[in-house]
Amino acid sequence: MDKKVEQFDVVVIGGGAAGMTAAIYCGRARLKTLLIEKSLLGGLATYTNEIENYPGFPEGQTGLGLMKLFEQQAKKFGVKIKLTDVKGVQLEGKTKIVETFRVNYEAKAVIIATGGKPRLTGAINEQKFLFDKGISFCATCDAARFTDKEVLVVGSGDAAIEEGMFLTKFAKKVRVSVIHDEGIMDANKIAQEQALKNPKMEFIWNTMVDEYVGEDILEQVILKNVKTGEKIPVRVDGCFLFIGYIPNTEIFKGQINMSKGGYIITNENMETNIPGVFAAGDVREKFLKQVATAVGDGAIAGVGAEKYIAETEIFENEILRKDLPGMVYLWCATDEKCRKLLTLIEQVEQENNHRLCVNKIDIYKKMSMAERLGVVDAPCCVFIKEGKVVKILKEDISKETIDSILQEIV
Ligand code: FAD
Repeated sequence: MDKKVEQFDVVVIGGGAAGMTAAIYCGRARLKTLLIEKSLLGGLATYTNEIENYPGFPEGQTGLGLMKLFEQQAKKFGVKIKLTDVKGVQLEGKTKIVETFRVNYEAKAVIIATGGKPRLTGAINEQKFLFDKGISFCATCDAARFTDKEVLVVGSGDAAIEEGMFLTKFAKKVRVSVIHDEGIMDANKIAQEQALKNPKMEFIWNTMVDEYVGEDILEQVILKNVKTGEKIPVRVDGCFLFIGYIPNTEIFKGQINMSKGGYIITNENMETNIPGVFAAGDVREKFLKQVATAVGDGAIAGVGAEKYIAETEIFENEILRKDLPGMVYLWCATDEKCRKLLTLIEQVEQENNHRLCVNKIDIYKKMSMAERLGVVDAPCCVFIKEGKVVKILKEDISKETIDSILQEIV
């Protein structure tokens, strides 16, 4: 059976904070927008009982409550939401294809906001105590819950040691389970030195988690000495796992540029290596993974997608139009040489009225448009015939040279 095909302006993959924000911006810009979420709308934030650091909610909010508001707002702006798993993508070219089990969605732009998941230890009973039941993955988010309590940190990389030190501002004791021999950690040296001096921190060397124990909430973590096999029970109020994070990027491998850790690499405009494909939120390589930063990324990606679609339409329908020869003048308003040549370009435009389509692109404002023509310098004239660039004039832009080129194409 052939798959159904549906068309959208933008498809957003992932319905967490980043994806929903991107969809709100696209929907509000009147783009036909589809958001696809494979499990729970709201993403990782919905697993958090209390979000206290998202601005605008001084009393705090439950993760679920906050994400419900995001969902309401996306729906208000006409975003279509589909609960299904994206199985594959074809992102190169003008029309992007997002594949699900039953339908292939075609889009002019795609926003990837698939987030990630914390790596787990795989120890006994782990699933039972995840998130609000005692196993946490975010000290910035959850440290305050453990004021004057005792916590265990698992891991010895930068995140484990730095977040562990952050936890000492709240907890009365922070024990750290490190798999390496005494004194060896994966964190940077400065963090190591500070942690070793911190009186609230205590290290349990050569250990890994064997089992989590408790009635409803986590009460004890049983560590195992990797050398002797000795079991070491540690009483805890909470346990923080910092043994890595796995981005949900499997389906984009081979198409989108990623960091060593598998995160999507973007520039500050959330653009990936493929034009028209943006990434936002925890899925991208970045400094801080929080709801507030996911929202910022989503807003930028949404506006970026809108701009990309608008520019593509202008580029195809006006600049590369097939019915009339064209000349594009790339200029920069702050450059004197460019400004002087503008009079000449306008004279050429008048003389060739109805025979030549003249467009002027200020590269300061529209560099991306210049890049589509394969030119980034100004002043420069690009000549187009039958929808194709036939000549690029960078040096000697004069009436004579322009006229001689126009004789060939007009
Ligand atoms: P996610 O929320 O991970 O959303 C990605 C979505 O994409 C998911 O819903 C996933 O199901 C979906 N998806 C993935 N692959 C596919 C696919 N193939 N097809 C369709 N859908 C797909 N931040 C704060 O600011 N404050 C806090 O207090 C806080 N507490 C936290 C507590 C915990 C325990 C954790 C783990 C994180 C916490 N964070 C907190 C961090 C915050 O939750 C994340 O930074 C934020 O949710 C990231 O949003 P996102 O949209 O980028 O990704």
